[in-house]
Amino acid sequence: MATTDEPTIELKVFVDKEKSRVLFAESGKEFVDVLFGFLTLPLGTIVRLLGKESQAGCLDELYKSVERLPTGFFRTEACKTMLLNPINGAAKLCCQLKVRVDDTKHREVYVCTSCYGHANCAYSSVPGAVCKCGKSMTRVPGERAEYGSTSSAAGAGSEDGVFVKGDTKFIITDDFKVAPASTSLMLSLLDKFEVQDPSSLEQKTIQLSLDKIIGLLKRSLTSKDPLTGHYFNVAMAHDDTGIDMFHESLHHEQDNGGEHTPINLSISVLQTKNNASVLYAEVGADFVDLLFGLLSIPLGSIVKSYGKCGSKGCVDNLYSSIGGSVKGFLRPECQSFLQSPKLTPFFGCGASKILQVEELSPYKEEIGTCFKCFKTYGFSNLTYCHGNNYRNPYYLANCIETVKTTNLCEMDPKSPKECANGEAYVKQGHQKFIVTDDLHVLPLSLVSTLQVISEAKIQKRDLVEKELAVTKPQVMEILKAALVTRKALSTVLLPPMNMKKLYHHSFGLY
Ligand SMILES: [Zn+2]
Ligand SMILES: [Zn+2]
Repeated sequence: MATTDEPTIELKVFVDKEKSRVLFAESGKEFVDVLFGFLTLPLGTIVRLLGKESQAGCLDELYKSVERLPTGFFRTEACKTMLLNPINGAAKLCCQLKVRVDDTKHREVYVCTSCYGHANCAYSSVPGAVCKCGKSMTRVPGERAEYGSTSSAAGAGSEDGVFVKGDTKFIITDDFKVAPASTSLMLSLLDKFEVQDPSSLEQKTIQLSLDKIIGLLKRSLTSKDPLTGHYFNVAMAHDDTGIDMFHESLHHEQDNGGEHTPINLSISVLQTKNNASVLYAEVGADFVDLLFGLLSIPLGSIVKSYGKCGSKGCVDNLYSSIGGSVKGFLRPECQSFLQSPKLTPFFGCGASKILQVEELSPYKEEIGTCFKCFKTYGFSNLTYCHGNNYRNPYYLANCIETVKTTNLCEMDPKSPKECANGEAYVKQGHQKFIVTDDLHVLPLSLVSTLQVISEAKIQKRDLVEKELAVTKPQVMEILKAALVTRKALSTVLLPPMNMKKLYHHSFGLY
């Protein structure tokens, strides 16, 4: 019996056995393509691929909050699906990777089977999308073609990779700096690592399957040596170190926060009187929407906005390689896309606006069959409409429709009625929520508030409630903090000086 072999990617690692360290690796385009593909992944996809154990700041908690929050709190059912299974704006390219990391289905087409009578067919690729008539859309058989039909780059006969141009060999350092292989680079790396005798380095060829690549993705978010970690199977740390450094970086970046549009989010914060920690914030749907929207943002856009501070790992090195050492070795259209990843149409939201992430234009396509045939046979049988139908006994031998084309137009799954602005995922209204320090979001109720207070084991007399007007730079900071620390609200909303004093104070006790 034939077994389908799982695709793997080969990587040659150079190991310093004495120091138990991978110094660097050499690979072809396949591995580098996969690494650059990481930057296109929406944060929600990353959390999902890592089984909600990404350990990147509060992202896991945020994702689980979306899962737990009843559908009624979202504008449409599709909104919840969009956050839990965001579609990658570069899905077309990522599909061609030798090992496909993002398994989100982006070419499925859902249409309304009740609305007939016009040649424009609104569709969505998000399961659970609702037609403007109010009916749930159903999936048509088959899948739509890719944008621009011809299956582009990595097609037969081309030497190009998915993002990489030509068939170059690359050197990847342990902290994911990527550069085309050359003798001078190798010599400078040997110098850097003080390797006197190159023959002492052990060369090992390893095969990376999907599981292992997902493991590397996880390490790249939280560690500076993913290759060493992978090769020696080092346990991943759970700590919150790096917050102090993060604090420093926060406060001198406040000035260049772009335009000074007021954002006017009023929240009330329950915190300890001594400014040691925030228990939770009581917020409106607008604030929750900003947080949830983070799940739709591609990793590369995060690095673009926040640089090194957006991650405790080393994806920033990957990102800077694109405009640096690898420049000129990428297909030109990929270069700009990887540097400013774009969102799938209609995935834009408050968070993407603040982070200035652009959205692709909605997809349109003319299908060569009538409306009825398309809805019945989808993409799987485009010829029926024009010829004899021997398959379906309920129809006449030939399709009697005269208009043999259907215009597929992508619709906004967030607002099928096309009236309200199509941005928010969360239903805007008077509903209040509580958001804990680690960004666990839940509807406001006495039960939930009391639970947070009792879990914190803090006396009521030590607590104080404060009203705050959150500014746009503060939102930027909260989104950034969400990526690197489990104390996102405390880190941003409490005065940094006090946190430091407290630290020194408690230190002085010993
Ligand atoms: Zn309809
Ligand atoms: Zn037809």
